Amino acid sequence: MGLTRDFFIKLSENQTLNSAAKRYGLALGANKVVAGVDIPSTIKAIRVLNDKGITATVDNLGEFVFSKEEATKAKDEIIAMIEAINESGVKAHMSVKLTQIGLDVDESFCYDNIHEIVEKAQQCGNMHINLDTEDYKHTIQTFEILDRLKGEYKNVGTVIQAYLYRATEDIDKYQDVRLRLVKGAYKEPAEIAYQTKEDIDENYIKLIEQRLLNAKAFTSIATHDHNIINHVKQFIEQHHLDKNQMEFQMLYGFRTELQQQIANEGYHFCVYVPFGQDWYGYFMRRLAERPQNLQLVTKSIFTP
Ligand code: FAD
Repeated sequence: MGLTRDFFIKLSENQTLNSAAKRYGLALGANKVVAGVDIPSTIKAIRVLNDKGITATVDNLGEFVFSKEEATKAKDEIIAMIEAINESGVKAHMSVKLTQIGLDVDESFCYDNIHEIVEKAQQCGNMHINLDTEDYKHTIQTFEILDRLKGEYKNVGTVIQAYLYRATEDIDKYQDVRLRLVKGAYKEPAEIAYQTKEDIDENYIKLIEQRLLNAKAFTSIATHDHNIINHVKQFIEQHHLDKNQMEFQMLYGFRTELQQQIANEGYHFCVYVPFGQDWYGYFMRRLAERPQNLQLVTKSIFTP
């Protein structure tokens, strides 16, 4: 973790750089990890994945939304993507960050937006909508909104971040909700979150086992960590668990050979497919997670 991670997380939070980046299209190597800037190119990228036996969860990139106009535009883009997935017949669902559709503007306005999205998705073949989790303050608000939605809809779920001490209780609480389990991508203080890689990995494994043994709904294990993936596969074998009740997930463009290998082994595999102009914050968080991802940047600069 350390300085490099903090440095890139700070860059990801820089609004001036974020706005500047939008004007330059997919730069600095971001095209390797962002599927497309518009709906048709993204549907094309999903088809390529589907042909390899891999499904997709699609994310309309967008950060720092502080006006109702921007939030409404994002909501409309998400609905357009839901319709395009439905009409094209590709195997995909959507992931949504609530800050993009107005969580920082007004919570009840944001609720109306996500309600409309989940309703539309239900009409489009009961498509699943995943509420991505963000930094702690927004994660709590996301859970509150999920609690309101899940009474009315079954096609909605969320993400549990293993670095949070409270994750064990959340997994218990959401046994009957479709969940994605991750390590956690933001910088959180020691009062609420594990700080070292060892502690986070240990808690992640504990949570995955807890979830796989008790879940009454589908589970996504989202990690690029082969040690964790191998552990999960062994755990599933040992406990004779149903492979059809879970999937592995990775981000678009990362460890593609491993993605294919896992899919070929008969596990469900789903790739997180980000698209759109607002790639900067997403890309900086990927650099924060793994400084080796800087290779994407250097390759893009030195490759004509
Ligand atoms: P790391 O801890 O980053 O890596 C562990 C080890 O895996 C490394 O030491 C290395 O050996 C190997 N490894 C990792 N990446 C590579 C690579 N590219 N090539 C070769 N080896 C590699 N976070 C949230 O907070 N909220 C969310 O909603 C959310 N959604 C996510 C959805 C998906 C599909 C994924 C994959 C991640 C999501 N995350 C989310 C991010 C997540 O929380 C982690 O920050 C991120 O996945 C990095 O942790 P990791 O488990 O992949 O492995």
